[in-house]
Formats: sequence, C-alpha cells, structure tokens
Amino acid sequence: MFYDAHAHLDLLNTKELKKTLSDAQAKKVSKIVSCSTSFASNKKNLALAKKYPSVLAGIGLYPLDIVELNEKELDKAFSFFEKHISKASAIGEIGMDFKRCTKKEEQEKQEYWFLEFLSLANKYNKTVIIHSRFAQRQVLELLEKENAKKVLLHSFVDSLKLMKKAASLGYFASVGPVILQNEQIQKNIASFPLENLLFETDSPIKFNNESIFSDKIAEIASKTAELQNNSLDQVEKIQEKNFKSLFG
Ligand SMILES: [Zn+2]
Repeated sequence: MFYDAHAHLDLLNTKELKKTLSDAQAKKVSKIVSCSTSFASNKKNLALAKKYPSVLAGIGLYPLDIVELNEKELDKAFSFFEKHISKASAIGEIGMDFKRCTKKEEQEKQEYWFLEFLSLANKYNKTVIIHSRFAQRQVLELLEKENAKKVLLHSFVDSLKLMKKAASLGYFASVGPVILQNEQIQKNIASFPLENLLFETDSPIKFNNESIFSDKIAEIASKTAELQNNSLDQVEKIQEKNFKSLFG
C-alpha cells in the first residue's frame, strides 16, 4: 500500500472527494492525511476523518493564517485543538513562511505559535507536519531545540544539505509531483535515505496546470524507485513502515 502524507481534502466538494478516494484506492493509496490551514478547515478535516476510514486529519493553522488572527482568536483555536486532539492523527500544517511574511513582527508571531504547536505535539506525542517556505534552516533549528520527536517536513526537497541534516535528526521529508520533472530534486531524492522519505500530493494543488489528486502517489513512488535504483516493492515496504511510524 501507498500513502499520501499531505493533502487538503477539505478543499474538495463531495463529488470530487468521492472520486479522489476511489481513484486513490484503485492505485493502492490506502490512507490520505488531510492537513488543516484555516481554523474552519480543522472542523472539516475532523469530520472527514470521522466519516472516511482512509482519511486521517491533521489539525493546526497555516503560518499565513496565523498572522491574520488576533491573540483572542488564536487562544480560542488552541483550546479547540487541545479538546479535539485525540481525534487527530497529526498536527499540521504548521510552521513558518518567510517568503510571504517578511516583516519582523510577522515572523516573530509565526515563530511564537509554531513553538506553541510543538509543545502541544510533545505533550500528546503527535506527529507534526511542517511548512517551511524560505525558513527551512530556522525551522530545523527550532525543531531540534524543542526536541521534536515525530516530524514530517512537507516538500522539503530543495536543499540536499538541509535534507540530510533533517534525516540525521530522525525527521522525515515528503516529496510530491515535482519529482516527476525537476532534475535537481530528482538528484536530491536519488541520494536521500528511503527510510526518511514519504510521498505527498498537496492536492488539490495544480501541477503543470492540471489538478493533482492522491492517485498521483503511484507515479511518485515509481519515479522514486527508478531514481533510487530500487524495486517498487521495496519502496512500498519502506513507505509503509515510515508512514506507520508517524501516523500509527
Ligand atoms: Zn499543504
């Protein structure tokens, strides 16, 4: 079986969702982690996980959503997370995004709440799913400092140096459809340990102007096997072990 470790199923309508789940099943993608972004997306993802056995919910707030919320709203969100954490399989998508937030006070606010999420994850022994656009080094430093245990770095595939550092800390990185065409990323994945790799689609994101859904994992897995000079069976076996170590 294969797994989509990072998607946003809350963004699909019911018809699209049903098609996504059945197409995924047909391509041996047995579980999909649906990550939350806005506060409202948390309620949707928890409801999806309750309804569909193949959906696992990540609860959290996207760093760009964090900067839009005031302290009162953020406190309220955290009480909600603490209350519902037993129904979530992970905390995500959380992290820092310094591409879109360049002001010091925005970055400090993101960092403060990122640390709050990390302590929530430590308290309940949950996996964190991390967004780190233009903040990859900073995110790794904070994870290490906070002694984060179960870590999945979303789309963390641009710098082999930082990828290897993440692997040395026992963290996982996930790669998406970009592996199908970006030569630098293909090189990075070729020399990254399979034992620290997971697959993701970030669906329904568009890739080459085409909407990507979780069944795309099958192609990502085949490409990984080719790059790693390994059999698809072996890639599948290691994926399964990796996914279970993070999401049970
Ligand atoms: Zn995402």
